[in-house]
Amino acid sequence: MNRILSFVTTAALLATVPAGAQMQLPGEQPAGMPAVAGPLTVKYKTDADRILTAAMADNDGYAALAYLCDHIGKRVSGSPQLLTAIEWGAELMKNAGLQHVKVQSVMVPKWVRGSESATVTTTGKGAIKKPLHMLGLGMSVGTGKDGITADVLFVPTFAALDALTPEQVKGKIVLFDPGWHGYGVNSQYRTAGPSRAAAKGAVAVLVRSATGLAMQTPHTGTLRYDETMPKVPAAAVSVEDALMLERLTKEGPVQVHLQMDAHMEADQKAGNVMGEIVGSEHPEQVVVLGGHIDSWDVGQGAQDDGSGIMATFEAVSLIHKLGLKPKRTIRVVFWVNEENGGAGGRAYREMIGDTIGDQVAAIEMDGGAEKPLGIGYGGFGAPRRPAAPAPGAPATGMAPAARGGLDMSTLSEQEKQSYVWMQEIAALLKPIGTDTVSPGGGGSDIGPITADGVPALSPRTVGLHYFDWHHTEADTLDKVDPDDFKRNTAMLSVVAYVLADMDGRLAGRKSTLRE
Ligand SMILES: [Zn+2]
Repeated sequence: MNRILSFVTTAALLATVPAGAQMQLPGEQPAGMPAVAGPLTVKYKTDADRILTAAMADNDGYAALAYLCDHIGKRVSGSPQLLTAIEWGAELMKNAGLQHVKVQSVMVPKWVRGSESATVTTTGKGAIKKPLHMLGLGMSVGTGKDGITADVLFVPTFAALDALTPEQVKGKIVLFDPGWHGYGVNSQYRTAGPSRAAAKGAVAVLVRSATGLAMQTPHTGTLRYDETMPKVPAAAVSVEDALMLERLTKEGPVQVHLQMDAHMEADQKAGNVMGEIVGSEHPEQVVVLGGHIDSWDVGQGAQDDGSGIMATFEAVSLIHKLGLKPKRTIRVVFWVNEENGGAGGRAYREMIGDTIGDQVAAIEMDGGAEKPLGIGYGGFGAPRRPAAPAPGAPATGMAPAARGGLDMSTLSEQEKQSYVWMQEIAALLKPIGTDTVSPGGGGSDIGPITADGVPALSPRTVGLHYFDWHHTEADTLDKVDPDDFKRNTAMLSVVAYVLADMDGRLAGRKSTLRE
């Protein structure tokens, strides 16, 4: 647990909600402020146009992503593929001519899935026995050799669980399916559900996959045990199977046999990969951007977060290729262990130490390279994390106040000025159609530094399909549209360059969630 509040759902969300997706519900566009041209637009128009043209003509970034996906592939913390990816990433940065390329050593947890299965059985008329489409949740314990066989108890929400007595839950396999209310809400059942059910005596937990699309694809992702509760095995089932189990439990007793070999092994050495364009006037001041190099142990980690590390890398590489020399340093970082621990983000914070004041801005891309709409920045006036569903109330994904956009009256003068600058920078992005600025922005890897007041930014996208294949076997290269990838790269490159070169500095705000 880090310095962020140990309140379990909040901490779990910090580690698992990707940037760019935090405030978006399916199909809901962030409340964006339009671009407004101003002095920064005029000053950087020529450089920005060069960057945009180069980025939209560039195929190297996508080619590197294709190599990562097809030749290195999935790269969960503790795996040999992760080490291969780290070595390859450092080579890529060196070959691109970045300076100070290094791998910061970070110890990461090693969770091993092993073999796993789940079978549903009913008795009586129309009795069935069939396998379920499942994926064990990351960091779950196993079931033991014999597996666990128990009756399924369908529980729609945490509020419904709270209303049950321990006698009603004891010895059962709890199935959570609140319906789909957006990732911020649904992922809480995955992260906190196992311990909350165990607290009432459940022997195992199944959760509906955290997705809005039913394609018989189970979605994994990390759980987070409450150390004061018994650790019970937990798995995600496909949306279809969750709904079938729900129907069956309304007819009569339903049994599931769950078998999982999942276990932890000794922590492994891994690392954060980083490289720089050193600033010409203020080399000690840093604009940092990046994503996470680890993925889950399924699929290729293409959108999550191969697209993020490759788009941020290419954004920096292009600035170097064009011979642009920003006054401050631009650093690209491939953080490690975002998915199941956040060790990379914490190690980066430790590396920065007392020089935190020199981190000028932090940009994280971890929401997939879908069509970008603009940049999320700051999050002032709107909670960065969705609110937990109130007991008994249908989950909405976020507090109503977050939907109305930015309340400028709550901002300091420096914060207002920062939004003006961001709108002027956004005006440079008009040619590629990514010219909005919205409250929000951030990510779990940069969380430890943005909590200490470093201004947080992240791309905002249409957010239509990211959670369709997130954490599944289907997160493969074909899901990343090359033109959308280029637009993300182009946008990140202009934003990073201007932030690193402009006279002013954006306002940041320390997180109130710190202990
Ligand atoms: Zn991610």
